[in-house]
Amino acid sequence: MTTDTPRLSDALGVAQAAYDSYRARGLKLNMQRGQPSDADFDLSNGLLTVLSAEEMKMDGLDLRNYSTTVAGLPSARALFAQYLDVKAENVVVWNNASLELQGMVLTFALLHGVRGSEGPWITQAPKIIVTVPGYDRHFLLLETLGFTLLTVAMQPDGPDVEAIERLAAADPSVKGVLFVPTYSNPGGETISLEKARRLAGLKAAAPDFTILADDAYRVHHLSTEDRDEPVNFVVLCRDAGYPDRAFVFASTSKITFAGAGLGFVASSEDNVKWLSKYLNAQSIGPNKLEQARHVRFLSEYPGGLEALMDAHAALIAPKFRAVDETLRANLGDGSEYATWASPRGGYFISLDTAEPVAARVVQLANEAGVSLTPAGATYPGGQDPTGRNIRLAPTRPPVEEVFTAMEVVAACIRLATEEYRVGRQG
Ligand code: PMP
Repeated sequence: MTTDTPRLSDALGVAQAAYDSYRARGLKLNMQRGQPSDADFDLSNGLLTVLSAEEMKMDGLDLRNYSTTVAGLPSARALFAQYLDVKAENVVVWNNASLELQGMVLTFALLHGVRGSEGPWITQAPKIIVTVPGYDRHFLLLETLGFTLLTVAMQPDGPDVEAIERLAAADPSVKGVLFVPTYSNPGGETISLEKARRLAGLKAAAPDFTILADDAYRVHHLSTEDRDEPVNFVVLCRDAGYPDRAFVFASTSKITFAGAGLGFVASSEDNVKWLSKYLNAQSIGPNKLEQARHVRFLSEYPGGLEALMDAHAALIAPKFRAVDETLRANLGDGSEYATWASPRGGYFISLDTAEPVAARVVQLANEAGVSLTPAGATYPGGQDPTGRNIRLAPTRPPVEEVFTAMEVVAACIRLATEEYRVGRQG
């Protein structure tokens, strides 16, 4: 027995007692999915009444009828072009979800290839690079479509570009990279301009290497002063001599209504034609009524989109602070138990436990009535090789619940860590 053992088991006893007292409270709290709160949704309830029967026209089109605007209502394309810092001709506004558009672009690439492809991707055993920790639905989408996933680390200034350069240079079946460029899910990292330039000009073995940038959190800052600067992949790729390389996706899911707003994508004008051709084969066009009411609502919102996002930030920032303060108060500033990110925007906080106990923390939290994103979800196949990463999603519950839930999470981290350390000593 080492001299440390009694001290460690004392710490375990204390951690167990603290955890048991939380567990006895019979809590039922959810910190699992990155969803807006009802207060966030309420900001956009005006969407439901912004159009009346007398206002069924926009851009000279009857919104109730079919039209040939497969790339979206001109006013909607103009609005979201501004959002993505491109021209209206560079944008397709589609239906309710950016993930659907990502799936469509990937499916069309598999079946037909993209511009510059030697053939359909599906015949080339295609591989896509993803960043880890990352977004479980990216992995699910790519795995479901049959891609092989290659992982690179997400670093504080964006993806590990050196690793991407190595993978892409070595193998023509590496067809691209899918990641979140601004306030990433789950770590909140934003790619630096320098790294974005390197990706835009990257020398790949595949002539059709594609950057799939899921810019879901491009304007989702937590404060008015301290903000990350989003990059513009469409322009950077054009300037680097690869005008068709980037597709940049986004949606209003975290602006107006989640899954009940608009998804859109920006790329070169040629890629917009490429995508429109295939979209046109499977739909006469997107839902123009939804597009028109978003145009009307967002342009009539006092202060515009910027003010709406500030109103979201006022609701969400205190929840991020609650996570940080509670972890700090209960686990200390050092890395004895865990380290976690303090992002300046987005929807998530990524936490790494000091010991490989993420799965045990999530299990303990569930048993104490706090539901967390399953451990491993931030890695392909649900397998986190580090065993340490936990995604915290504080946006949906009211702020008081975030405080309580994080006290429980901190108690779970302490207990799981002490269990592990005692087990390791014993
Ligand atoms: N991309 C990222 C990075 C996300 O975090 C989310 C929502 N959790 C989505 C896409 C989903 O967006 P949509 O509703 O537009 O499909």
